[in-house]
Amino acid sequence: MGDINNYKKNLEDAIVQTDTVKIFDNLLTMGVEMGASDIHIEPFENFSRIRMRIDGVLQEIIQYPKNIQDSVIAKFKIESGQMRPDEKRLPQDARVSTVTLTNKEIDLRANTLPTVRGEKLVMRIVDKSKKVPPLEVMGIEGLNNELLYKSITMPNGIVLTTGPTGSGKSTTLYAALNYINTVDVNITTYEDPVENKSDGLNQSQVRSDIGYTFAQGLRAALRQDPDIIMVGEIRDEETLEMGMEAAMTGHLVFSTIHANSAAETITRIINMGAQPYMISGTFNLVMAQRLGRTNCSHCFQEVNVKEKFPEYYKNAKEVLAGMQKDHIKREVVGRGIDQEKWSKFVNEGVGYVGTGKDPETGDVCPQCGGSGYKGRIGIYEFMEFDEEIKNYLTQGKTAFEIEKIALDRGMINLERDGIFKVIGGKTSLEEIYRLTKHREN
Ligand SMILES: [Zn+2]
Repeated sequence: MGDINNYKKNLEDAIVQTDTVKIFDNLLTMGVEMGASDIHIEPFENFSRIRMRIDGVLQEIIQYPKNIQDSVIAKFKIESGQMRPDEKRLPQDARVSTVTLTNKEIDLRANTLPTVRGEKLVMRIVDKSKKVPPLEVMGIEGLNNELLYKSITMPNGIVLTTGPTGSGKSTTLYAALNYINTVDVNITTYEDPVENKSDGLNQSQVRSDIGYTFAQGLRAALRQDPDIIMVGEIRDEETLEMGMEAAMTGHLVFSTIHANSAAETITRIINMGAQPYMISGTFNLVMAQRLGRTNCSHCFQEVNVKEKFPEYYKNAKEVLAGMQKDHIKREVVGRGIDQEKWSKFVNEGVGYVGTGKDPETGDVCPQCGGSGYKGRIGIYEFMEFDEEIKNYLTQGKTAFEIEKIALDRGMINLERDGIFKVIGGKTSLEEIYRLTKHREN
């Protein structure tokens, strides 16, 4: 990872020279080196602007004179070989494979949009050199960590992840599959699309346009002598039924589902037509997750967060007050949070925040570009379907009631996990409350 200010300087030079080849070379290299997922090139009345989505949030990179906007966009259209440079009234798409100045292979999914100020170009970057990180670096800590390993090493059952698009839920599943991917088990996955190719996994691309659906894939999987099956997403009753059947016949089934929380997943599954006894007979674990930005390690500093974010700090204290002492102790010890950090936060309201300024020079931080954040960490909520929870389900308790009982018993939800990560210095209260809601005790 290089100095952001250097990449920016090269980009500025290219713009001054109106060298469109150099602009794109430097722009893409900078994007990949900064870990950007998307690059936006946007025209306005008097200037154009480049922004990048880094760690999930858009950041302005540079503004440049409006008069070169047309040639920048035209250059990209020609290079892509898939867009018509003379057509400026209609949106256009292109998929391009290219190599950065730092020699990284990337795929670009680009599209243009005619706006009232000219054409806007958005490029989604898929960095092919990026590997799925191992489970242990994803930020799954404390009780959640224990539950994860317990549930993915069971011989059968269902493990689901849920969360909005871009929350990293499929990355978590891949990391779990890689962990249990040994020579003595047959793992088959059904995906749309196959994003990461892993050795030892039998990965199949579903094609609903020709009738090859997730449900059909599951049916085929059961004839392929499987141990472990991963289905990209459960979004209909048929896939859900097949998944439950596979789990009941001795297989471990992984999948994702669209919901906001672990409890909401139960509601979703019941609304899809599953009987509560079927859920209690098959489910091991539901994980909800978000991706939070981590404090920049170059510019983070001790800050009185009680004064800086009084509302968030009050929420955090309420959450801790709502937990049993032994559950708190289990988390603090399990996560290796040091005692001094703990007492500073709880007693003095002191936490850690990225300032965005270089601590030596006071200039814009060269590592995070001024945002105060660099890199990401998962925020997790794990609901284990142990005997007690299964009983409540079959007794007909609602998802909301079950969630409340689970929290009283020490379940770590998104907010609780986030607060422990803040106390450990990994991220900020502001970031946690951007991603999670405060739960009244
Ligand atoms: Zn920084």
